[in-house]
Amino acid sequence: MVNRRSFLAGAGGAALAATGLMPNSAFARTAPKSSWDRLSRHLDGRLVLPSDADYTTAKQLYLAQFDDIHPRAIAYCTSPEDVSLCLRYAQDQDLPLAVRSGGNCAGGYSTKQNSLVIDVSKMNEVSLGRHGARLGAGAELVDITDGLSREGLSIADGYCPTVAAGGFLTGGGVGPFTRSMGIAADSVTSAKVVLADGRIVTASPHEHSDLFWALRGGGGGNFGIVTSYEVTPTPLTDLDTCTLIWPYDQAVDLFDGWSKWQADVPWTIGSAFLITLLDAAPGNVPVVSIFLGCVDTSGVLAGEVERLISAVGKPPVQRRPVKAPYKDIMMGFYVCDDKTVEQCHRTGTVGGGLVPRMGYGIWRSRLFSEPLPHEGWTKVVEVFDKDRLAGQMRQLQVVTMGGRANTVARDATAFVHRDTIFSAAFLASNAEGHTSDEAVASAEKFADDGFNAVDPYSNGETYLNFYDPRLPDWERSYYGSNYPRLQRIKRSYDPHNVFRHAQSVR
Ligand SMILES: Cc1cc2nc3c(=O)[nH]c(=O)nc-3n(C[C@H](O)[C@H](O)[C@H](O)COP(=O)(O)OP(=O)(O)OC[C@H]3O[C@@H](n4cnc5c(N)ncnc54)[C@H](O)[C@@H]3O)c2cc1C
Repeated sequence: MVNRRSFLAGAGGAALAATGLMPNSAFARTAPKSSWDRLSRHLDGRLVLPSDADYTTAKQLYLAQFDDIHPRAIAYCTSPEDVSLCLRYAQDQDLPLAVRSGGNCAGGYSTKQNSLVIDVSKMNEVSLGRHGARLGAGAELVDITDGLSREGLSIADGYCPTVAAGGFLTGGGVGPFTRSMGIAADSVTSAKVVLADGRIVTASPHEHSDLFWALRGGGGGNFGIVTSYEVTPTPLTDLDTCTLIWPYDQAVDLFDGWSKWQADVPWTIGSAFLITLLDAAPGNVPVVSIFLGCVDTSGVLAGEVERLISAVGKPPVQRRPVKAPYKDIMMGFYVCDDKTVEQCHRTGTVGGGLVPRMGYGIWRSRLFSEPLPHEGWTKVVEVFDKDRLAGQMRQLQVVTMGGRANTVARDATAFVHRDTIFSAAFLASNAEGHTSDEAVASAEKFADDGFNAVDPYSNGETYLNFYDPRLPDWERSYYGSNYPRLQRIKRSYDPHNVFRHAQSVR
């Protein structure tokens, strides 16, 4: 039987290929012009072509707005060697390529027209060793939460179950417990990466240290394809939480009170402030809620809840305190409290996955080093309420950052936002199904108006993982003063710009 190694041997590169050191140019010169069939036979994983019954599902991302992008093939890789093979094949055949783990990119950068999509979702190991944990790039947050919590451990997971390590950790990784744990990328100790020329390397403080620096906040789809990470998780078993709801007409008081309270809150507490309108039909009243989550279960949260209420000056209409294991709280965030871990995956990705895709979604966000003044929050609430459209879901997501994340210098990793205290994002979305042009235009206007309302009060930065294709100054917004170093690393590791998308480092 012909296997991957004999395929490479046929190309005259077995010895070098076995060590992962064969430069791409050598491969390109010697590889025969292969058909998809030939690639398919030499992959340990699976190649899906347009003629395959599951092609339509295989090419999907989380957002259905990218469904009219048709790759030429999707390669489900199961090893770094598979990834290396695909990278060399794509370059040999002059094919555009896209890199995909969880497929949650809001800019659609993990697919491309007529490309070979190199998908690492099957490389989804979550395992513990003596020195930490190994996370496959395809491990989704629900798998990471589940796997690590079994041992009383966690990284700073985010709010979405199907986001995968591949994109999440390269972009930074923020979530409800960032203040106590730092960004998720701060827990990475090394990464296995397949470079543009097909070499398989380890990036760590000791090897390829520039690449290691870039991979922690420099963003996916830029420098190489990560196949796994080694991380040092944080012990975390139980959480003390409280969700509070105020009437919508008190939203500005709440923002003002939260801003005052937030200045002195301990790092052990993270909060997420949401205004939600499940259906923006005129007349529907938005829901205003704050989630507080505390990694210290000794009772400190109750005092902080009282301090928040007193800063707001008006009592909430609902107060729901919950003390529970970390995994249970996260399954609630994932809207999977009624699902198994297996069911808490996107439909079409894992057998039994029940998490629906989103028909259309747009996020626009900024980061803040200071709270907004009263007139700023007033504008936010006005914008939120304007130009209603039935069937549209709207949300303002104000999520705390800072704390431990800000103990790291701005240039210590590629994640530059080390003096940010919160992020504010305007999201407009429609459920799966056809989204009309009118709905798209309305969603874009909502997100643009929101962005323009908060921008003057922001620090001018945007968290890269909340990809915003409408951001004109994305280099400065995502990377600030770290961009020139990222450009140098890009030139050194990907001189021919093999990894590229509309907002890739160049
Ligand atoms: C509903 C929703 C909720 C979210 N909530 C949070 C949150 O709470 N916190 C947070 O920090 N972020 C959040 N995000 C953003 C999320 O972290 C980013 O979209 C992230 O990039 C997704 O990673 P992915 O692997 O799932 O996506 P993909 O679409 O597969 O990839 C994203 C980018 O990374 C590249 N990439 C993917 N895999 C690799 C790899 N193995 N090696 C190198 N490059 C790779 C892709 O080419 C693409 O450019 C959320 C997104 C959504 C849609």
